[in-house]
Parts: sequence; C-alpha cells; structure tokens
Amino acid sequence: MDRPEILRWLREEDPARLEALWHRADSVRAESVGDEVHLRGLIEISNFCVRQCAYCGLRRGNAQLQRYRMTDAGILGCVRQAVEFGYGTVVLQSGEDPGIRTGWMAALIRQIKAETPLAVTLSLGERSGEDLAAWRDAGADRYLLRFETSNRELYDRIHPPLPGRHSDRIGMVRRLQELGYEAGSGVMIGIPGQTYGDLADDIELFRSLDLDMIGVGPYLPHPATPLGGTGFQPVADQVPNSEQMTYKVIALARIVCPRANIPSTTALATVNRESGRERGLARGANVVMPNLTPPAYRTLYEIYPSKACLFETAADCQGCLRQRILAMGRRIGTGRGDSRRGDLSALAGQR
Ligand code: SAM
Ligand code: SF4
Repeated sequence: MDRPEILRWLREEDPARLEALWHRADSVRAESVGDEVHLRGLIEISNFCVRQCAYCGLRRGNAQLQRYRMTDAGILGCVRQAVEFGYGTVVLQSGEDPGIRTGWMAALIRQIKAETPLAVTLSLGERSGEDLAAWRDAGADRYLLRFETSNRELYDRIHPPLPGRHSDRIGMVRRLQELGYEAGSGVMIGIPGQTYGDLADDIELFRSLDLDMIGVGPYLPHPATPLGGTGFQPVADQVPNSEQMTYKVIALARIVCPRANIPSTTALATVNRESGRERGLARGANVVMPNLTPPAYRTLYEIYPSKACLFETAADCQGCLRQRILAMGRRIGTGRGDSRRGDLSALAGQR
C-alpha cells in the first residue's frame, strides 16, 4: 500500500468501502498474528514528569496534580497479580521521572525476571543511552516510546525539548532496536495542527521503522494543558480526533506492518466505552493492556480526563477484558506474546 492509497483510505467516508478496509485488516491480522489476543498488565509506576508536553495532564506545569511514585514492594505486588491473572507481560509506565534511578530500575527488572516468567516492557519516556543499555542488560525485553507525530514542526510545538537537550524520539526508537529491545512506537490521532498528509507520513514511518509494536489512540483534550485550552488552533486539513479515524489508522497500521503487535488502547475505550476495544480488535488490533495500577494511584495518572476503567480494580479489568475477548470468538494469548516481526527472517536464516 503506497502513500496515495493510505491517504485515500484516511479520507474515505463511504461505510461500505470502510467495511472492506476493516475486513482486509482483520484478515491480515488473522493470517499474520493469529486469533490470540495478548494481555499486557499495565502498571503506572509514577506520575512525576519533568516535561511540558502541551497535550498531557501529567506535564510538570500541572500544579493541581498530586504526584506519586510507587515503591518496589508496591510494584512487585502488582507484578505477582499479573502472574496470578495469567498475563505474559508487565508494562511499567511513568512520566519522565528522574526519581526513577537507573540502578533502582535495573534491580527491579532483575527481580521481576528472577521471580517470574514475565516479559518486561518499559515506557518511561526519553532516557539516556546508558539507562536504556543498563535496563536491557538487566533483562528488559521491550520499550514503548511514541514519536507522537512525524511532522517535526508540529512535534516541536507540542513537545518542547528540555533546556539544552534535543528531543529525537524517532532516533531513540532506532537506538532501542540497536540495543536489542522489541521497539514500539505510535502517534496520537487528531492533534490540533495534524493534517491528513502528516498522518499518512506517520503510517509510512511505522513501516520504515519496522516496528514490533504500534500503539495509536485519539488525542483527548485535557483542560489543564495548553493544547486542551485555547492555545492551539486546528488547521485547514485537520485530522479529526474521532473514533472512526482511530480505526482507520489501526487498520492501515496492520496492513503496512502485518506482524506487529497492535493494542486496542484505553483512549479508544474512552471514546466508545461500550465497544471501542472490541472494534479495535476486529479492525487489526491483537493486544489489550488491562490496568494493574492500584486504585489509589489510578485517578492520579490522569493523562486525559474521564479515562476508561478508572474505578475498576485489577481483578475487574482482567475479568471484563477476558469476557469481551471470548465473546468475540477470539482466544486469550498464552505465553509472552513476543513480536513475530522477525519470524520470516528467522525462518529464512535457518534455510
Ligand atoms: N512519559 C512517557 C512518554 O511520554 O512516552 C510514557 C507515558 S505517556 C502518558 C504515554 C502516552 O500517552 C504518550 O506517548 C501520548 O501519546 C499519550 N498521551 C498523552 N496525553 C494524551 C492525551 N491528551 N490524549 C491522548 N493520548 C495522550
Ligand atoms: Fe510526561 Fe509522557 Fe505526559 Fe509528556 S506524555 S508530559 S513525557 S507523561
């Protein structure tokens, strides 16, 4: 699928033609990664953040937000729940928090790897090459870092660099790949100022980065941020932050990166609580991320308002998601659900 075709699909509004796109993405998903839906237990370990992203409620400038950082005992309690619930992976996510020290995180990763069979995914923002290497050495398997938009000018506007530092998330994704991580990235859909052409470029970049994981979701305005207020205006060829546009991007990501792991995200479940997750799974996605964060912290990890599953417990989340997956006729993934992106090249290498 070339860029003009990607662009045509992004602009497509005819329901019958879109049905054909959903069907094609679902067939590619079934052929390339099968019917299993992998469960990744999400632990939001800290909401401290040094950055001033114009879109995110965790930004440093949001003085109204009470901050927390979980202890290693607290995190390990959630990790044990992940094992009990039969998940294959834990995802440790946070704001960009220098209080998460290199050595502390390395020791935590080592302990998780020693005590459990789980894959460990990190999503801790932009960290130094030394930190990333130390955590990889400690046993971390995967890292998620969305590049948010491939339009450099828009990126600089919504994601200001830290003083004296350059922010290059695309470069960091390549560095993660060199270090041997399974690398995940993605974008928000409908950022004010994002055009259809930008989004087509993003999807092309998914392909050229050859990502193991692709996470996309609608941009959801947060009133305590510059982007959620009146500071930024939409452009002429503005992409809507709609549910439908999110399905299009999931479907196109599946078609251009057939073997990637693609989650049906919480942001999608937030815009359609009833069936957003299921529709994402039926239009190309093969992963869900049930939340394991203790209820006391969940409400404080407020990236955007009215997040889905805010008041559920970890047990509620796993029960609800399991039942939704089985009701769709899909299977719950067993094992770690590693990337299958390299399967073909590995096979070719054995011949
Ligand atoms: N701090 C790390 C980082 O920035 O990569 C990880 C946590 S951050 C909250 C995870 C993702 O949340 C970001 O990559 C961004 O795409 C998404 N996000 C932040 N604010 C959002 C908003 N207002 N609407 C939708 N997604 C948002
Ligand atoms: Fe911090 Fe990540 Fe939110 Fe940016 S998106 S403010 S880095 S938590």
